This record gives sequence, structure tokens and C-alpha cells, in this order.
Amino acid sequence: MGRALIIGAGGVASVVVHKCCQNSDVFEEICIASRTKSKCDALKAKLDGGKTKIQTAQVDADNTEMLIDLINEFKPDIVINVALPYQDLTIMDACLATGVDYVDTANYEPLDTAKFEYKWQWDYRERFEKAGITALLGSGFDPGVTGVFCAYAQKHYFDEIHYIDILDANAGDHGYPFATNFNPEINIREITAKGSYIENGEWVETEPLEIKKVYDFPEIGQKDIYLLHHEELESLALNIKGIKKIRFWMTFSEKYLTHLKVLENVGMTSIEPIEFEGKQIVPLQFLKAVLPDPASLGPRTKGKTNIGCIMQGVKDGKELTYYVYNVCDHEECYKEVGSQAISYTTGVPAMIGAMMVMTGKWKKPGVFNVEEFDPDPFMEALNKWGLPWKESFAPTLLED
Ligand code: NDP
Repeated sequence: MGRALIIGAGGVASVVVHKCCQNSDVFEEICIASRTKSKCDALKAKLDGGKTKIQTAQVDADNTEMLIDLINEFKPDIVINVALPYQDLTIMDACLATGVDYVDTANYEPLDTAKFEYKWQWDYRERFEKAGITALLGSGFDPGVTGVFCAYAQKHYFDEIHYIDILDANAGDHGYPFATNFNPEINIREITAKGSYIENGEWVETEPLEIKKVYDFPEIGQKDIYLLHHEELESLALNIKGIKKIRFWMTFSEKYLTHLKVLENVGMTSIEPIEFEGKQIVPLQFLKAVLPDPASLGPRTKGKTNIGCIMQGVKDGKELTYYVYNVCDHEECYKEVGSQAISYTTGVPAMIGAMMVMTGKWKKPGVFNVEEFDPDPFMEALNKWGLPWKESFAPTLLED
């Protein structure tokens, strides 16, 4: 049916490529492009010979002109951005210049600040509308599936949703003392930033990892969870009716947090450039270079993830509680696509988001977050493409 240009060749991109190749009715031809072409070629070598035709290209996605040339040459129907959040705007600019739809999994961030907000990308709304093209923002798991879960609950079960807790648990073990499950630089920037949540329309800020609770997750058991700032809070608070409070929680082990504290204490997680042997380096980027590559964790990781949303609200005047979640097994993911579950749970929804736009189900001129579209075809696709979800109307709540 169409052609997709996939930018990035890391952990998440690898899953997107595998899933596009499984879905060759929609993705007839793909082009994988990143700065290091050999990574793209290695992915192509794994999957060549199937129904989806694969090309590769070298591109620096910080360079809009180079992107425009590549888009004009390959002529994709959609660009799937699974490079880094720093490239979101240059890629959106290239899509505007060429009239091609856009999908990503993480909001734009400038290199020198870690703010996690949609302002920059929402500023493109009018330009995408005028160009008649769609930008779908945050089509990973969180953001992504979590937004679709909320839209589904709003559509089918609630008149108003008052409280949402998004719970992201990873009970996987890769055997390393310290490693991150996706790009270490992006991951550590997120965790070491101040926490925050939205209550009665206002952001409430906390110190990093200040609020901790314990939750007993279906299928993975009891875990420590910490309140984090997360980008989908901003869009869901606007797009879901009746929100009084919305929070985001993630699990971390004692071991992980102890390592992180030490690295923070010695300045290794800083994004302020320092002078080292006559060169400017960013300590966090250096740390990234010495940590295990997330793409290499696949064969070592055992255990499961559980990511979902607990919601409380009203239907026909009656109070209602609802929990919807996906459980994903690291080893099963590795067997299927050669990646661990964090890459898998991000890459599958990125492919599905692109499919929604390409098949016209979510095609509308402008810039949108996932919860602004009809959740039903996406929820159906999650079940079909490897991320089945479960629901409960009597979950344990997070006490205040
Ligand atoms: P990786 O670091 O594994 O991969 C990033 C890829 O981007 C690399 O292949 C890199 O290749 C490429 N890249 C970086 N800079 C450029 C550039 N200037 N031009 C072209 N390519 C570039 O990251 P992940 O795969 O773990 O993460 C990918 C994205 O997914 C990130 O934005 C992350 O925030 C997001 N994510 C979203 C989640 C969600 O649930 N929504 C969860 C997890 C991740 P090279 O260096 O060769 O160019």
C-alpha cells in the first residue's frame, strides 16, 4: 500500500523495521536511514528477502536539507522518526517542505535543556494544517499506547475521567549492574529531572524521585514506583474530559538508583558541557558512550514489563474505576524480533501509528497527539501486532 522512511537504526528502529516487514500489505517498501549507514545495512541484511522491499541511506537528521533530498529521492508516504528527540523539528521541517506525513515516539527536546513539553511541536499545527499533512506525536508506549488507553476509556466507559495514574513497570533483569533499556542519554535526562504531576489544572513540581510508593502489579508482583514528570501528562490533561489529577509512575530497583546517585554525585549525568583535554564534552553523552548499548540487552534480559493506566471517574452519575494494561515478556520479544521489551513496546505502536495514518484511519491535516483520534482501530491493532491488553474494573488503587 505504501512507503515509509524510517529514521534511526537503534533499539526502537529495529523493532519498527521488523514489524513493518511483518505488515507488508501496508508497508510495501521501507528505507532505513541514520548517520551510520552500516547499522541500517545490518538491519536490512536481517530482513531482506521478504515481501517488504528494503533500502538504506545515510542521513544526518539534524540537517533539514539532507532530509529533504532523501525524501525527494525515496518519495515516502510517511516518515517514522525513531532517531532521538533532538531531531523532531528538523524532520518535521523536512516533512512540511515535501508534503509528507510524520510520526514520532518522543517530544522534541533541545540538547541543552531537559523540559519535556509539547510547545515546540504544537507550534507546527497551523503549518501542517495548511500543508494538508498529518503529524502524529508520541506514538510509542508511553507516550503512545497510554494515551490510546485513556481515549478508549473515555469513549467506552466514562462520562468524565477525574484521576489517572500511568504505571510503567519493568521487572526485567539484564544482569548488568547498571544499564538503561533505551537510549541512556534520553533515559537519564528524564529520570534526573524534577518530578511533576497535574492537579486541578496546575503543575505541581517535586524533587527528582521524591515520591515513592509500592504497587502490586498483575503478573509481575510488588514493585517500588516513583513519580516522574512525563510528557503525556501535558496532552492528556487537555484532551481527556474532567481530569482533576494525572500522575506518571515508573519502577526502579534499589541497585539502579544507587548507581544513578553515585553517577549524579560525581557529575556524570550533567548536560552542561565541560572542557576535557582541550575538547568540549557533555558528561552525560560520555556516560552514554561507556554504558551498554540498549540494543545489546535483548539476549540477556529476562522477565516482563507491565505498563498501563488506572482511571477513576463517573458514568451515568456512578463512580467507576478502570485499569487497562499490557504485559510484555522480554524473552518472547527477543525470540520474535531480536530485541528486549522496552524497544518492542515502543516500536510496535510506532508501526501501528504509521499504519493508522497510511490507511487513512488517522489521517487529518494538523499536529495531533494519539488520544485525539478514534482509539478503536489502534486498540484492535495492539492485539493483532503483539501488544495485547487486559482490563479490570476492580483494580487496587494508588492511595494518596
Ligand atoms: P538508540 O540510541 O538505540 O537509537 C537512536 C538512533 O537514532 C540511532 O540509530 C542513531 O544512529 C540515530 N540518530 C541519532 N542522531 C541522529 C541524526 N542526527 N541523524 C540520523 N539518525 C540519528 O535509541 P532508541 O532506539 O532506544 O530510542 C529511539 C527513540 O525512541 C528515542 O527518541 C526515545 O526517546 C524514544 N522512546 C520512546 C518511548 C516511548 O514509549 N514513547 C520509549 C523508549 C524510547 P546514528 O548515531 O548512526 O545516527
